[in-house]
Amino acid sequence: MDIANPSEEHLMLREMVRDWTNEYVEPQAFEHDKHERFNLELLRSMGELGLLGISAPEEYGGAGLDATACTIVHEELSASDPGFALAYLAHSMLFVNNLAYNGTEAQKVRILPKVCSGEWIGAMAMSEPDAGTDVLGLSTTAVQQDDGTWVINGRKMWITNGCIDDTGTPADVVWVYARTGTDDRGRVQMSTFLVEAGMPGYSVGQKIFDKTGMRASNTAELVFDNCIVPADNIVGSPGESLIHMMGNLELERLTLAAMALGIARRSLDEMNKYATERTAFKSQIRDFGQMQRYIGESWAKYRAMRAYIYDTANNLTIGTAGQRLDSDGVKRFATTAAKEIADAAMQVMGGYGYVAEYHVERLWRDSKLLEIGGGTLESHQKNITRDLFKDADAINR
Ligand SMILES: Cc1cc2nc3c(=O)[nH]c(=O)nc-3n(C[C@H](O)[C@H](O)[C@H](O)COP(=O)(O)OP(=O)(O)OC[C@H]3O[C@@H](n4cnc5c(N)ncnc54)[C@H](O)[C@@H]3O)c2cc1C
Repeated sequence: MDIANPSEEHLMLREMVRDWTNEYVEPQAFEHDKHERFNLELLRSMGELGLLGISAPEEYGGAGLDATACTIVHEELSASDPGFALAYLAHSMLFVNNLAYNGTEAQKVRILPKVCSGEWIGAMAMSEPDAGTDVLGLSTTAVQQDDGTWVINGRKMWITNGCIDDTGTPADVVWVYARTGTDDRGRVQMSTFLVEAGMPGYSVGQKIFDKTGMRASNTAELVFDNCIVPADNIVGSPGESLIHMMGNLELERLTLAAMALGIARRSLDEMNKYATERTAFKSQIRDFGQMQRYIGESWAKYRAMRAYIYDTANNLTIGTAGQRLDSDGVKRFATTAAKEIADAAMQVMGGYGYVAEYHVERLWRDSKLLEIGGGTLESHQKNITRDLFKDADAINR
């Protein structure tokens, strides 16, 4: 059995996405990275393939597929263009999946068909200029008015798809976390709001340029200045957000790990080909022991990542929390492994590895974000250690 393609349907999905990626994603990757441009039309076109709502139920326009399918798509896209894959992740995992599993029926009926087709582009806004890892340290507030509407004030930072072009056009809809009070034990009460383009007081503060990597995705600061949101746009009841956030973070971390796997696979492929083509001292460089060390160790790491990621994917039930030990575990392991494999590829490829035309330079830069976004390495270490305290038996199961 192939753990990464556990059924015929999974294999067909992989082949379809790989072919599509080779035809449409690969030819544009270099230019979009170079010019820090997000390929909005390419992302929209994934709606026709049924991939934008990959995990959303079919009755709302989604494909109703599982965590393994989500993992396959992220791996395949990222093997070609991690920046584009990140924009896809922000839309399909951070927005669409969140809404599909946590939204009200009315919200799902109204919004899911639009985001599954690509008519609307979505984003998720949790991080702020002064609060990232410390999620409950957020300062964006939402206060309910007498007429039932909510007024949001604050800024969100680092939001993928926060703007969809270079002129400050905001995402069509954003999943925004805001502070709505404190509970009886004095803990921050966090709530989720669906903020839509055109709502008064919602705007893009800036598109963030000059990122190290993931330059083919747009990252923005969002401003909520007395932003008025209708009563129907709160998700669930006030204070319920932590539950939404925790469940969705598990799928987010798994698919970020899948992106790392795509980077690792492509880097390995590039270094392996190069080691055959390149000669020095009248030998293929793959005959040199030091080159063999880079290739051999990268292969072993790649296979270990692949096994752990797909084992986690095959056991992860979307929409339920409680699988954090492995969603954090795979992201902790795979992101650093991808960075190391991209680095090994660059070393094997010498000067050619250092320039954009040979791909690994871009993969090397892109890989670093995966150690930060969606939870830093340090937050995964803390979560794993905390969870192993609560469930020490996980080690011997
Ligand atoms: C390109 C890009 C895209 C992103 N996309 C999104 C998005 O779409 N939506 C969104 O909401 N956010 C997004 N983010 C934000 C990302 O999730 C945060 O950057 C990340 O969570 C870290 O938060 P921070 O940058 O505020 O760093 P901080 O939280 O300030 O951390 C700084 C350092 O301190 C360490 N640290 C913090 N607390 C502790 C602790 N208790 N113990 C030990 N070490 C600690 C961290 O591990 C880190 O090394 C994106 C970021 C980038 C760069």
